[in-house]
Amino acid sequence: MTTLWVLFIFLNFDLLLQTGQCTKTSGQVLSITPNTQEQVEILKNVSTQYQTGLWQPVSPHNIKELTKVHLYVPGNSSETVRNLLQRHNITHEVMLPNADEIIKMQMRNDSGDPRSGSTFYYRYHTLEDIYDWINRTAHDYPDKVKAILVGSSYEKRPLYALKLSLNNRPNKKAMWIDCGIHAREWISPAFCLFFVHYSLSFYNINAEMTQILDNMDFYVLPVMNPDGYKYTWTKNRMWRKNRSPQKGTSCIGVDLNRNFDANWCTTGASPDPCTEIYCGPFPESEPESQAVANFLRSHKESIQIYLSIHSYSQMLIIPYSCTEDEAENHSELYEMVKTAADNIKRYYKNIYTYGAGAQIIYLAPGGSDDWAYNLGIKYSFTFELQDRGKYGFLLPPSDIQGACNEALLAVKTIALKVMEKPQAATSSRQAGPAA
Ligand SMILES: [Zn+2]
Repeated sequence: MTTLWVLFIFLNFDLLLQTGQCTKTSGQVLSITPNTQEQVEILKNVSTQYQTGLWQPVSPHNIKELTKVHLYVPGNSSETVRNLLQRHNITHEVMLPNADEIIKMQMRNDSGDPRSGSTFYYRYHTLEDIYDWINRTAHDYPDKVKAILVGSSYEKRPLYALKLSLNNRPNKKAMWIDCGIHAREWISPAFCLFFVHYSLSFYNINAEMTQILDNMDFYVLPVMNPDGYKYTWTKNRMWRKNRSPQKGTSCIGVDLNRNFDANWCTTGASPDPCTEIYCGPFPESEPESQAVANFLRSHKESIQIYLSIHSYSQMLIIPYSCTEDEAENHSELYEMVKTAADNIKRYYKNIYTYGAGAQIIYLAPGGSDDWAYNLGIKYSFTFELQDRGKYGFLLPPSDIQGACNEALLAVKTIALKVMEKPQAATSSRQAGPAA
């Protein structure tokens, strides 16, 4: 009798769950391959309607025949969209059936003390947690870490870069790393936090890191787009741009990685504020890009390497993205990313593609890496971290460690390679062309 009661209660509880939240259709990510130009046009339309979010490519303009499109479709329009694709015989499969569940998993932060143990670095953190972490890190390592206010966001949030300087050697060169320029790429700020932690923990323990930190300072900006990042935690997980309102439209935000003065707003960016690749009203119109540009301009004599961290697609990118022309030291840069990708493959069995942005992706003008390169920082890179589309922007916390280790290996590889070079890049600016 008791068993029957238990069973009865259990079944009803199950029913309750089904009639409650569980019956709500989850958002999904679809992988869609258009086979004809007609299907391309239909897909371009679909991707701008039904509150869908285009993950890959970033703009409908770049949708091509026989090339995979990753599209986030919210629960309430998933049936409509899938019916439409079926009606037009467009090849598609569900890449992520339970996107909402994974978003919840990414937001879970189940620990009393948020900084207890190393697992802190293998979880995603709210913007408030990251500010708190910045303060504590600067406070805990007063002789090694300094928080520098480089500017503020449109919504007046501070932009702090951490300067890591592990010894007092004079005239050290430096590397700049920024994370979180695109709000939804959560693995990116996670990497910046991990990198700072690793540098502080493994100095004098890991031989390569010690050698690097003995010869080089680091500036690390963990969240370049704090307003957008905050928005992905509170309102829309798929948000990419910053949050500045634009004249004459209700559409919000500029793509900060199209807002720099490198062939600004040419093919590959858009003057339409309602697109994901809106370049802004003029170069450096946004306080976030302007802050970074100002800092780099005033530190260009010491900053030798520029690195911007993005996701996803596993790529190590070198200039140019804003033109099909080759960078002047292309082969040198190419050799560096090739070695980094080879190392990742050897140690972590994971594949990263590499090369000039315009060659391996598509034209993307106004990017920070090309701008920094043209400023004179001749070792300029953009990394696209994990994965290649299984989870996309919704990379589970359990994959943070692997993604960060791979990027760290690439940073080490490149930093060591640059250290081998005579300081030509910076000294030639003072002494004229190298002999
Ligand atoms: Zn990005």
